[in-house]
Formats: sequence, C-alpha cells, structure tokens
Amino acid sequence: MYDVIIIGGGPSGASAGRRAGKLGLNTLLLEKEEFPRYKPCGGALSRHAISYLDFELPQDIIEWKVTGARISFRGQTIEAHKDHCLSIMVSRDVFDNFLLEKAKETGVKVHTGEKVLQCVESPECVEVTTEKGTYQARFAIIAEGAHGLLKTCVRPVDSDENNRVCVVAEVPAEEKEIKERLGRTVYIYFGIADGGYGWIFPHKTYYSVGVGGLIKDLPHPKETMLEFLKSNGFTGDYKLKGHKIPNGGVKRKITGPRVLLSGDAAGFVDAFLGEGIAYAIRSGQLAAEVIAGVCQNDKTKDLKKYESLCQAEFGTHLKYSLIFSRIMHRFPEKTFKIFTSNSKMIDKYFEVVDYTVDYKDYLRWSLLNFKLR
Ligand SMILES: Cc1cc2nc3c(=O)[nH]c(=O)nc-3n(C[C@H](O)[C@H](O)[C@H](O)COP(=O)(O)OP(=O)(O)OC[C@H]3O[C@@H](n4cnc5c(N)ncnc54)[C@H](O)[C@@H]3O)c2cc1C
Repeated sequence: MYDVIIIGGGPSGASAGRRAGKLGLNTLLLEKEEFPRYKPCGGALSRHAISYLDFELPQDIIEWKVTGARISFRGQTIEAHKDHCLSIMVSRDVFDNFLLEKAKETGVKVHTGEKVLQCVESPECVEVTTEKGTYQARFAIIAEGAHGLLKTCVRPVDSDENNRVCVVAEVPAEEKEIKERLGRTVYIYFGIADGGYGWIFPHKTYYSVGVGGLIKDLPHPKETMLEFLKSNGFTGDYKLKGHKIPNGGVKRKITGPRVLLSGDAAGFVDAFLGEGIAYAIRSGQLAAEVIAGVCQNDKTKDLKKYESLCQAEFGTHLKYSLIFSRIMHRFPEKTFKIFTSNSKMIDKYFEVVDYTVDYKDYLRWSLLNFKLR
C-alpha cells in the first residue's frame, strides 16, 4: 500500500512527486511514455513558473532568454521590453525529463512506459490499474494533463466551451537567423484565431510556431495554422501537432474523497495567455503537501483543503484571466487596438506575466484606461 500514487510525469506529476518524496511519503509515479518524450508546447517558462522550483535549472536547458514581446492585431504592432528576463525558453522533452529526474532524486518510485487504465476510489483506498498490474494507495494525484479520462472519477469531461485547441510546429532554423528575426522577443498575433492567438517563439534550433483558440471559435485549426505559417514566410513541410488546453478560470471539481487533480487535469491554465506550466508545478506541490498533512497528522482525512489552497494562491487570478480574456475577445476591434497602441498597457501586462500584479488589478487598471480613451 503506497501513501500516494501519482498518475502522469509531466511538470505537475513530477513536482508532486518531488514534494511527496521530500515529505517522506511512500510514493509511486506512473507515466505512460518513456522519457524524454515529446510534448506540444511553446516552451515559455515564466519567472513566476521558475520561482516555484526548489533547484537551479542547468544552463543547457535554457535555450533562449526573452525580455519582451512584439504584439500584433490586424496590421497594428507594438513592441515592448522589460529590463529583466520575462521568461526563458525550454524544449519540453528536455525540461520535463529534468523535472522527473529531480523527483526521482527524492527516492520516489517511478515507472515510465506504464499507462494507467483505471483509477477507482473505495472507502479504504484507491486502486490503480495499469497495463502491467494493480496498485493500491491511500491517495492518488491525477496529473494526466488535458487529454485522458481518468479525471472523470472526480468530475465529468469538460465541454468544448471549456477547452482550447492548439496546433504547433517546430520550424528548424539557424540560431543566427532566429536572433535576427526575434532578438529577445516573442511574437504574438491576436486576430489570427478568434478567442486565442498565433505565436512565434524563439528556441535554440527552431521556432515554435502555433495557433490556439477556443474550440468553438477555431473550427479549422489546421487550415488556420497553415495560413499563419505561410503569412510568416514559413513554407516548408512541417509536422503539425494538435493538442488541447483547458480554458482556465472555470470552476471545476478537483477533489474526490481520496483523489486530487492537478495541473491541466484540474484546468489550471491562464485563459488569456495559455500559460499552464507554473500552475501545473504549484498545484502538484500543493497536492502532495495536503496528502502528506492528511497522512501524517490530520484526523479528518479531508482533502478539501487542497481546493482552498489552490483558490487562495492562484484561483482568483485564473478566474480574472478568464474575465479579461472574454472582454478582450468579445470586442476585439476596440480592445486589441488599444492593447497594441498603448505601451503602458503592455508594460503593465508584463507585471501580470511576472505575477507581481494580478489579473483582477490589471483588469481594473485597464478598464480605467479604456474608459479614459
Ligand atoms: C500547443 C501548446 C503550447 C503551450 N505553450 C505553453 C507555454 O509556452 N508556456 C506554458 O506555461 N504553458 C504552455 N502550454 C500549457 C502547458 O503545456 C500545460 O499547462 C502543462 O504541460 C501542464 O502540465 P501537466 O503536468 O499538468 O500535464 P502534461 O504536461 O500534459 O503531462 C501529463 C503527463 O501525463 C501522462 N499521462 C497521460 N495519461 C496517462 C495515463 N493514463 N497513465 C500514465 N501517464 C499518463 C502524459 O504522458 C504526460 O507525460 C501549452 C500547451 C499547448 C497544448
């Protein structure tokens, strides 16, 4: 009988694993893929995300440092920078593998290449069945990401309204060319995909190019992506990968009597930007801490504390990211025109990215700005 079984070895599962190991929990982590594995992603890791790590990232994982953004809306463009690094760029196969190694360091047992087929709660324990056998634990953390249906043991599947779809490609390029084109910026194009955006992010040997938006607003994502690639001069035959991202800020059930959902499985994503790695890491850590508390001394055996901790740390922030996103996309001609013509708005938005200003305050501040204009 394990104290906790963690399902999924992405940023959330690996962070839960590391924290569980450090807290002395008898832990098994099950990951269906062999690592390193490919994960469709822009690979932007904000300062906020990095701040949750209790170790330094090796220099060779950091492919690019970004200090600013070039943001466009239908031909109108603005570029702004901070005097510090806003985010670093990583390749997810390398980054996720490193996080999983950091979890293993704490003594947790990790089985890769073992897909979980079922997770069933009973009054006494959680039973987790894989292709290779059945395991029992007092508690489980489901960190299976946006895809997968194990989370339905806690809540029903999200409707399309609460999901985004993305298509991403890695466009190979020389470092010198990437530097000339992007410098220290990421490019973001609003108006390409309703309810979302197109992006070009710099990496060491490739551009991450993608489009994403609400499923209902992006009925032909592949065609939109091909158009986006072409309009930016990328004419090769690139491998396109589709993936879902939960629309963050929506109220979702994230706890069962013995099971917690974390990361994308819980829907913890910034609804405007699509940033999810920070919340995946933090929610994984919180899930492990709550389970450790219950295992070690909490007589009530109640996991509900996890909900209130997530709510207090970032729940309100994500809720307002959704409100902000809805306002922006409801009146794009007005809102994005102001967004891309007012450097103060971008400068202030960078503080949201840094997590030194929350969405609620930013929304208040920007509504005042809209009104003044
Ligand atoms: C195209 C795209 C671009 C993005 N760009 C960014 C970005 O630039 N910055 C950012 O912060 N966020 C970005 N995101 C969001 C970010 O990728 C996610 O929020 C983050 O990966 C969530 O981490 P996670 O650990 O919850 O899930 P995942 O990273 O999806 O990890 C889940 C893991 O669970 C495993 N798994 C699934 N099912 C099972 C099973 N049945 N049994 C065992 N293992 C299983 C999977 O193999 C996987 O390794 C992007 C997302 C997409 C789709």
